[in-house]
Amino acid sequence: MDFRISDRTKTIIEMINEFVDKELIPLEVEFLNHDFKEMLPVIREKQGMVKKMELWAPNYPKELGGMGLDLVDHALVSEALGRSPLGHFVFWCQAPDAGNVEILHKFATAEQKKTYLEPLVRGDIRSCFAMTEVDMPGSNPVLLESTAVKDGNDYVINGHKWYTTAADGARFAIAMAVTNPEAPTYLQASMIIVPTDTPGFNLVRNIPVMGHSGSDYFSHGEILFQNCRVPQKNLLGPEGQGFVIAQERLGPGRIHHCMRWLGICNRAFDLLCRRANFRKISLDGKTLATRQTVQNWVAESAAEIQAARLMTLHAAWCIENIGLKESRDEVSMIKYVVANTMNRVVDRALQVHGGLGMTDDTVLAFFYRHERAARIYDGADEVHKTAVAKRILARYK
Ligand SMILES: Cc1cc2nc3c(=O)[nH]c(=O)nc-3n(C[C@H](O)[C@H](O)[C@H](O)COP(=O)(O)OP(=O)(O)OC[C@H]3O[C@@H](n4cnc5c(N)ncnc54)[C@H](O)[C@@H]3O)c2cc1C
Repeated sequence: MDFRISDRTKTIIEMINEFVDKELIPLEVEFLNHDFKEMLPVIREKQGMVKKMELWAPNYPKELGGMGLDLVDHALVSEALGRSPLGHFVFWCQAPDAGNVEILHKFATAEQKKTYLEPLVRGDIRSCFAMTEVDMPGSNPVLLESTAVKDGNDYVINGHKWYTTAADGARFAIAMAVTNPEAPTYLQASMIIVPTDTPGFNLVRNIPVMGHSGSDYFSHGEILFQNCRVPQKNLLGPEGQGFVIAQERLGPGRIHHCMRWLGICNRAFDLLCRRANFRKISLDGKTLATRQTVQNWVAESAAEIQAARLMTLHAAWCIENIGLKESRDEVSMIKYVVANTMNRVVDRALQVHGGLGMTDDTVLAFFYRHERAARIYDGADEVHKTAVAKRILARYK
């Protein structure tokens, strides 16, 4: 395996790092202390700069107007962008749109591509993904309760979803609902495109998460589908293939998430080391960096970040070279290893900052609140661990 980075990718990463430092990190105090909606004009300005630099939509196919980076190159880009909470959104490779672009590109009809995919990649509209339900376990989505029943030329959708990330302001949702209740369990659900202005698509609220309801892209919606009627031509991919398509969405998405989390690790680690060297804690002027506990945190964090990073790049390499199905263990392992590494590194960085770490004067408290969810979404730790352990133990039978 060759972990060398091409000159082109090196240049891209350097440009992104410079942009994040100069243009995005200075926006963070405003981001942390204001409604995100109020920031949209300045965000649009930064997005215009990214387009001019020809770094727009790094992971989307070239024919759609993206940069067409492969999975490993985009993984490196995702790491660089992850240093700021605004990185992915400004460069237009943010979840859940990134996953939606992938499945629309692969499964949408020509008409669906024109109506939804093309404006989405241009950044003219946003989307959301409505699968998880309030009353059923997201960890076992085959227990889905939402239904889409055929009536004339339409589907009529009913269901109660939540954690529909970024539903506030999205132009359309990709919704999962049971269309074929008589079919085998894994073939019962379908994906359906639902414009958010369809009567019966009700955004009940932005859910307060760790004390913040957020707004626009930085929010998680609770959605009630009440006799929500959309034409049958809004079916995405074949009927009954919802779970199969969902799997397509998750593999590469986990690489993107893990590398974003590594970007967060790098930023938190950087803040930790700077603060440790700066903060004097005794009369003789010694700093926190002279204390062994802090030194241990530095040494452990450096090693854990390096291990998590190599595992993630390896998993990306496996997906590209061996295939997604054969890389299931690698992908599951990085999901829980990197999420926990990030939580530990952010926690240590916050601790080193003392009371300052708890405020919104640095980005650490945001990372601490916002990224705790990493151990829950896209498969909770326990679910991935069970899957990996089962396959390993089966080999010992
Ligand atoms: C910030 C955030 C953003 C999200 N964005 C989206 C989105 O855009 N669209 C969307 O559809 N969903 C989204 N989700 C929902 C997410 O996918 C679900 O929360 C996740 O699948 C877990 O489902 P659940 O919350 O119903 O928990 P449950 O399924 O009820 O599980 C609860 C807990 O039980 C444990 N557990 C579950 N199964 C097992 C098992 N087999 N063995 C051992 N322990 C187990 C785990 O600890 C788990 O955390 C988001 C969630 C969060 C927190």
